[in-house]
Amino acid sequence: MTALVRAYIGMGSNLADPASQMRRARAALAAVPEVQIRATSPVYRSPPMGPVDQPDYLNAVLAAQTGLAPLSLLDTLQAIERQQDRQRGRHWGPRTLDLDLLLYGEQVLINERLQVPHPGVHERAFVLYPLADIAPDLHVPGHGRVDELLKSVSAAGLQRLGGFSWTESG
Ligand code: ATP
Ligand code: CA
Ligand code: CA
Repeated sequence: MTALVRAYIGMGSNLADPASQMRRARAALAAVPEVQIRATSPVYRSPPMGPVDQPDYLNAVLAAQTGLAPLSLLDTLQAIERQQDRQRGRHWGPRTLDLDLLLYGEQVLINERLQVPHPGVHERAFVLYPLADIAPDLHVPGHGRVDELLKSVSAAGLQRLGGFSWTESG
């Protein structure tokens, strides 16, 4: 029997109806037998990181319990990105769906396909704010507690969407 691990997954979208992209991605992940979603953050709107000639993003974070090994979980996330027509364009360019493995338990992993904790976790407001909504006392290996990390990032332009519904269809 594989031990269950608590993983945190960051979601982002800024193309082709981002709200429905986010709902579809969450539903696709919930349908994976080895993944149980335990918490879902509110959704935030954030200005693009990198190239500014692209629409704002929607971002959120999911907490999941999983029996999948880290690379299998990455494969699963990338398969869902492909199902939702993720195209590989320029670096940090617009995308229908981005799923990042933010944290995998307390593990620190670095290989050619996967770095965990995700290198942006500790410094990105659009990751730390939703993460703090569901796990403020979470420890990011090598960096510290989420609620402490939050204090050193700017939330300029970040907006929590009070009216977002994860279940609405269409
Ligand atoms: P960033 O990683 O800075 O948020 P990005 O999400 O736009 O940028 P992608 O083009 O989606 O980057 O991913 C590039 C590669 O990053 C993927 O092919 C994947 O192998 C690798 N990668 C390394 N660590 C992770 C991780 N923790 N989660 C997701 N992908 C990762
Ligand atoms: Ca990303
Ligand atoms: Ca990514």
